Amino acid sequence: MSQERTTLIAGNWKMNGGLDEVDGLAGDLAGRMTGLTAAPGFEMAVCPPFPLLPMVASAIEESGIALGAQDCHGNEKGAHTGDVSAKLLAQVGCAYVIVGHSERRTDHGETDEQVRAKAEAAQAAGMAAIVCVGETEAERDAGRATEVVVGQVVGSVPEGATAENLVVAYEPVWAIGTGKTATPQDAQDMHAAIRASLADRFGGDTAAGIRILYGGSMKPGNAAELLALADVDGGLIGGASLVADDFWAIGQAAG
Ligand code: PEP
Repeated sequence: MSQERTTLIAGNWKMNGGLDEVDGLAGDLAGRMTGLTAAPGFEMAVCPPFPLLPMVASAIEESGIALGAQDCHGNEKGAHTGDVSAKLLAQVGCAYVIVGHSERRTDHGETDEQVRAKAEAAQAAGMAAIVCVGETEAERDAGRATEVVVGQVVGSVPEGATAENLVVAYEPVWAIGTGKTATPQDAQDMHAAIRASLADRFGGDTAAGIRILYGGSMKPGNAAELLALADVDGGLIGGASLVADDFWAIGQAAG
């Protein structure tokens, strides 16, 4: 982690959480954050399901915790039943939108082109896109991990990226929800390759400011080691973000 990038610890609740989690989880984290007597040394974000966004926005108000959504549509508005526009997400208080999560790439067949359009829409609405990339186990075993991931970065990250409007999340598909994590060396190598690709397109100064998160079974027991890596600027956390003590402990490992 570099001095110039603030570590981001973002919780992806996925299709979990209900009304109980508004006060129980978001409110709990907000209480811990506001109870700190010194600056936390990291930024925290929570990304609940769409219907909870306005309620969670209230629960975390003035705590310093940021709100994020898990997806948005690539178009500004229109006849897209079941989808949600980036503009509306910004209106209800989102600062971040996760796009291109591997579960969406798999479950909904999202392509790099669609992910790029979603990221562009999020950025146009004034939010930062958290663009997810990651290789499958078969791709890693075939020695293609870097080629696949850098290809996704090139295909999914829109032009005009800045440190303010873009976060990249490297999430090896085989590590998500499995309890397996990338080795520190593999994670650092991939994060460095992602940053080099960003530098090729946007220049070294811009790339040096863009945060690259690691995601895939990050938990209190492995967070400190991963977050200490030079090019790992935070975590995108699924399962462990649903337990306040665990998510908070990951934040403490970053701070
Ligand atoms: C995720 O889905 O973004 C994720 C990293 O999940 P988990 O932490 O549960 O592996």
